[in-house]
Amino acid sequence: MAVPATAVPISSNVQFDAALIRKMSQQGPRYTSYPTADRFTDSFGMGDYLQAVNSVRAMGARNPLSLYLHIPFCDKLCYYCACNKIITKVRSKADEYLTYLKREIEIQGKLFADMNTVEQLHFGGGTPTYISDAQMGDLLAHLRKWFRFATDDVGEYSIEIDPRTVSPERVHSLRAQGFNRISFGVQDFDEDVQKAVNRIQPEECTLGVMQAARDAGFRSISIDLIYGLPKQNLITMDKTLSKVIAANPDRLSIYNYAHMPALFKPQRRINEDELPSGETKLDMLSLCIRRLTEAGYVYIGMDHFAKPNDELAIAQRQGRLHRNFQGYSTHAEAEMVAMGVSAISSVGSTYSQNEKTLEGYYERLEQGELPICRGIKMNVDDLLRRIIIQMLMCNFELSIKSVELAYPITFANYFATELEKLRALEADGLLTIDQEWITVTPKGRLLIRNICMVFDRYLGMPREVKVERMHYSKTI
Ligand code: SF4
Repeated sequence: MAVPATAVPISSNVQFDAALIRKMSQQGPRYTSYPTADRFTDSFGMGDYLQAVNSVRAMGARNPLSLYLHIPFCDKLCYYCACNKIITKVRSKADEYLTYLKREIEIQGKLFADMNTVEQLHFGGGTPTYISDAQMGDLLAHLRKWFRFATDDVGEYSIEIDPRTVSPERVHSLRAQGFNRISFGVQDFDEDVQKAVNRIQPEECTLGVMQAARDAGFRSISIDLIYGLPKQNLITMDKTLSKVIAANPDRLSIYNYAHMPALFKPQRRINEDELPSGETKLDMLSLCIRRLTEAGYVYIGMDHFAKPNDELAIAQRQGRLHRNFQGYSTHAEAEMVAMGVSAISSVGSTYSQNEKTLEGYYERLEQGELPICRGIKMNVDDLLRRIIIQMLMCNFELSIKSVELAYPITFANYFATELEKLRALEADGLLTIDQEWITVTPKGRLLIRNICMVFDRYLGMPREVKVERMHYSKTI
């Protein structure tokens, strides 16, 4: 299959330019937070978090709440996995975990008592549906005991499921339990690719779950694909895309597989000889963008696509898209309270992360403490850069005037060095700059991380604490 190597307009809002991508691709953060998690320090603790909650309360608690619940268990190992998960078939481990998770929910619920309602809930993992239907019901009842939730038409309540372990009946049950958005991994429909990554997920199983989600009335169905897996090529990818487009999900994420076996042990089981070359990966990305945009999907940014009438695309058109640890969101400016092992909260002007091991997590809760082990208090410069990175990531443009109205700076002076670097990117065609706007071009959109990196003050600075698994993936 011939894929043009030069700039070809394939949709009005994104343009694939192979030569430019080859030139600009480098390692960089995904900016689900700014400062990025590798800048958190262990001098930040529970006291700092409590202070942040108090100042949110003192300021009138204007923002709604967003809850994240982490369920770390999985049945089977996918060889490409780079997540923080625990593979086990010992179901009693989940019982023990839920006991502690409920303790954490109670502590957080008391802290946020009488503050705003929850407008967003996300269950992630691992595999959230590792826990049984009854366990889920019990956990949600506990959450409702400690937090007030907005009604179904207002709230965005989402869960990641594993189609291999979820029956259509369970999908209906999840909807009845209050979830209204569902997402799951497909990765690739090709059987050989599935075997090579140890994730056998028959097509009927995926399509059955999708149909059940539609019948049950989920408002948005989202699926994940990965390009760059072993045994993938343009032909397998094209077939998978045809099946995906026929399945008609509301949203799609297409992730670039970053093979880093030195950092992620499961990836050592992948046969490197079967991995597609860098050039084939680029061609696959080009194909994905072409097929999806031709099928009517809008490029939201950073691997995400949505139908034009999906809330994500509507929010982007209206300039109210937001980015957080779960990716893009339609609910801006929420206080995010994340619970479970390794979960990261964003409250007031702080980020805080929970203990990363079950032992550490249980021990802290056993002592009646919140299991926070590290984090960061943002200063004014961090907040300013965070809003700039948010705007660029979500809207692909930045109003210089709006930044100057919100912060006591003259943009051209404060960001003189950054503007110089941006001029170089402008020369490469990634963006345009005038007196009032920085605007990302359609071919700059795929390289948005490169643009945001210009505003990242921490890049290249030494870290205060040694962080294991510190790495960034390639920007494309
Ligand atoms: S990719 Fe997802 S389902 Fe597979 S092992 Fe990792 S967390 Fe579990």
